[in-house]
Amino acid sequence: MGSMERPSEQWPSKMLDREIKRALLSWYAATGDRAARDLPWRGTRDPYAIWVSETMLQQTRAATVVPYWKRFIEALPTVGSLAEAREEQVLALWSGLGYYRRARMLHSAAKDVVAIHGGRLPQRASALLTLDGVGKYTAGAIASIAFNERAAAVDGNVARVLARFFAIEEDVTGADGSARVWAVAARLAAVDEGEPGDWTQALMDLGATVCLPQEPQCTRCPLRGRCAALARGAVGDLPRKRVKRAPMEVRSVAIVLASKGAILLALRQTGALFRGLWEVPQQPWTAGSLRGALRALARRLGIAPAALSVRGEVVHILSHRKMRVTVFCGRLDGRRRFALPGPDYSAIETVPFSELRRHTRPHATLTRKLLDMANMPGNRLR
Ligand code: SF4
Repeated sequence: MGSMERPSEQWPSKMLDREIKRALLSWYAATGDRAARDLPWRGTRDPYAIWVSETMLQQTRAATVVPYWKRFIEALPTVGSLAEAREEQVLALWSGLGYYRRARMLHSAAKDVVAIHGGRLPQRASALLTLDGVGKYTAGAIASIAFNERAAAVDGNVARVLARFFAIEEDVTGADGSARVWAVAARLAAVDEGEPGDWTQALMDLGATVCLPQEPQCTRCPLRGRCAALARGAVGDLPRKRVKRAPMEVRSVAIVLASKGAILLALRQTGALFRGLWEVPQQPWTAGSLRGALRALARRLGIAPAALSVRGEVVHILSHRKMRVTVFCGRLDGRRRFALPGPDYSAIETVPFSELRRHTRPHATLTRKLLDMANMPGNRLR
């Protein structure tokens, strides 16, 4: 690729598209398996297993996803088994991965695959797009990797490579920039060269291992001979970043009541974020009302605030929200019954720590953070 022409007004041209594709595919053939970070879903062409991996990989790093994916596929190995599973089991297997809406939509889409498509995933990206939670990226990834369709799949890594390679100046997360990136991705994907799945994975791997966000390794990049950003000295400026809005701050108090082997948890029934998950009972508060929120929550639980001690504050950051939770602790008396539910919770139970450790009880990472902060005896989850 180093001997190829520099970027010029000839771009785009079908011949150059093909040259680029060849260069990246031969790099992938030579280094792909090593560079591809030994990911277990790379060893399969099972569309269901790929679908689960691509859903988990949305918003989550590959290294984090690996144990979750293995556990999920072991417990629910087919789309049929996922369709038949109870939501509680699906959320439990997802516990700790975050963005639980993904799990709910995956579950609902699996039911549709069984009911509408006879238990087999549709093969075309356009048909996959009709499933709950399957966006353009996931549809393109499944269609190209599992079903050999020459479909494009643009994730954050691919968008960065293409924005630099074509020197796309628009914000690639905005409507115009995204449309441009998808257009060149579709054009390249359509070129009849190599296996569609290899092309999808080669582009992703280049972004993940060479065209890195902070320090791109241009000297070892198979595309360097034609890279527009490199030729213009603009690699560090691309892709252009949108100025992010500060996340909204949400404050709450949490009461951790635990004994040596168990903890009091409540089942959240409202809110898109944590619905269906078991959590430490919490109560939101606004300026100046921390004590009031504590008293209200203690009253709902039927305990005296004086029996609680403050442990500190847990900060939990989600994409649009910064949660600040002040943690109070007390001893769990096994003989008591607690009242909490309604309208935000639907059940309250004493849950053995072993159920959290074994991922049989759905709960969010925030619950684990609150337990760490509480440092109650017997709450060692890891
Ligand atoms: S030459 Fe550098 S900036 Fe261009 S695609 Fe390769 S790694 Fe990215």
